[in-house]
Amino acid sequence: MYIILFGAPGAGKGTQAKILSSKLNIPHISTGDILRSAIEKKTQLGLEAKKIMDKGELVPDNIMVGIIRDTLKEERNKSGFILDGFPRTVAQARDLDKLLSELGMNQKKVVSITTNEGEIIKRLTSRRACKNCKQIYSLEEIENSDSCPNCGAKDSFYQRSDDKEEVIRKRLEVFNTTTKPVLDYYSENENVIYMDGIGKVEEISQNILQKLEG
Ligand code: AMP
Repeated sequence: MYIILFGAPGAGKGTQAKILSSKLNIPHISTGDILRSAIEKKTQLGLEAKKIMDKGELVPDNIMVGIIRDTLKEERNKSGFILDGFPRTVAQARDLDKLLSELGMNQKKVVSITTNEGEIIKRLTSRRACKNCKQIYSLEEIENSDSCPNCGAKDSFYQRSDDKEEVIRKRLEVFNTTTKPVLDYYSENENVIYMDGIGKVEEISQNILQKLEG
């Protein structure tokens, strides 16, 4: 199953993608994670992407489509994956469709997770991640811990540089103007699964799984 998880920043795509990936036993492909890993490794792509990401803007389509083309061709992604953070523009969505049909990947499912702006800002400003295992937490969850509950790494929590309030506002603006039209594109051609992203994480993933199987 080839799943595209769609939603605003902070809708819970990353969290849900991780759960679905382990339940369905298919890889989680996050374009944000791929870019952050390039930044850590200080590659040319990483150096260019960092400047763009820190402003809350989008990395150009040709770069992103190139990354996705290489990634989807990997053997491990052959029989299914969960795409998180791609496509973010209608041009990316069109290129993805071409790529999926080139690769004979026909069982595509689009899941859209909805939230509201107040909730997004609250979630993103309190979002922290573990440097070591990349697990995501809210500040409340790790209030009294000095080590990561998932991997045990000490003092490993950090805030993403694009999770500062002014950058979040820019990311939301970009989402509303450039990324939201992707959903219209899919609604015209596919059965989109709409999911309320507010509620208990496990219940949301349970609902998504039910709808995917149904
Ligand atoms: P994310 O981790 O999905 O929130 O992505 C973090 C940042 O990476 C975004 O704000 C963009 O700057 C960049 N990015 C990730 N995916 C894409 C994409 N498909 N197209 C353009 N930029 C992207």
